[in-house]
Amino acid sequence: MTVAYLLPCSCGSEVSVESAQAGGSVRCACGKEIEVPPLRVMTTLRSVGVSTSDLEADVQGAWRRTSLLLLLVGALVVSGALARLAFLYAAQPAPPSLDRAKPAWTVVIWQELRKGAEGPLFRDQVNYHKSLDDWESRRTMALIVALGGVGVLLLAVIIRRRACPARF
Ligand SMILES: [Zn+2]
Repeated sequence: MTVAYLLPCSCGSEVSVESAQAGGSVRCACGKEIEVPPLRVMTTLRSVGVSTSDLEADVQGAWRRTSLLLLLVGALVVSGALARLAFLYAAQPAPPSLDRAKPAWTVVIWQELRKGAEGPLFRDQVNYHKSLDDWESRRTMALIVALGGVGVLLLAVIIRRRACPARF
C-alpha cells in the first residue's frame, strides 16, 4: 500500500500523484500540464491509499521471507562460531614447563636438549607446538565460519532493503 496525493486541476478534476513525482509535472485528463509541488507541499494535499499490485506484493513477500531466512541462518552460524571460539579459548593448550622456564633454568633446559628429541621436556615442547598448531587452525576455521555468518547477515539486510525500499 502506497499513498497517492490528489492534485487539483483548474478543470475541476484531480490528478493522483505519488511522492516520487514531487517537483515534476503531470498531464491531467483535460490535457493541461500541471506542476507537481515539492514533497512538503504535496503532503498537505488530500491523500488516498493505493494498493500495490498483487504480483508486486508477492515478489516483496518472497524477498522478505528470503531475508528473514537468511537472517536466521546467519544468526545461527555466527552464534555457533562464537560458541566454538569461546570453547576453543577455554580449552587453549597450556604451554609446557619449558616455555615457562625462567632464565635460571636455562642450564637445565640445555642439559635436557643435549639428550636430544627423546628428552621429556623436549618431547613436551614438540607436543605443545603441535597441539598449538592444531588449536590455531581450529580457531582460524571458526573465524572463517563467523565471517561467513556475518556475510549472510549482510546479505539478509541488503535483500530486506530491496524488499521494503520505503522503510529504509
Ligand atoms: Zn484538468
